[in-house]
Amino acid sequence: MAFEIIEYCVNCWACVPVCPNQAIYEAKPHFLINPDKCNECVGDYKVSQCVSICPIEGALLNEQGEPLNPPGSLTGIPPELYAELVEKHSREKALWPA
Ligand code: SF4
Ligand code: SF4
Repeated sequence: MAFEIIEYCVNCWACVPVCPNQAIYEAKPHFLINPDKCNECVGDYKVSQCVSICPIEGALLNEQGEPLNPPGSLTGIPPELYAELVEKHSREKALWPA
């Protein structure tokens, strides 16, 4: 029973000091969780500390590979609208390159 950090992680360090088991460590290209140390905070906290503090949607996965902060959960922007905005922005960039 352990969570996983994936490539969306921006290596911001926020989760490292809050982990009660020192399970998170710096690595390249992104931080990682030692599965032997992570207990999903069970017995330590009601809410998993890394999940609570991570500012990036989709950076942390549960054992089933599901995002713990899924798209839209932190920004409040629905994923469909986000995709639309990214597309619009890239079109504008193509029209008016810097
Ligand atoms: S779920 Fe808890 S124990 Fe596991 S890495 Fe995150 S903070 Fe550490
Ligand atoms: S808080 Fe999130 S983005 Fe920051 S290092 Fe941890 S997993 Fe990566």
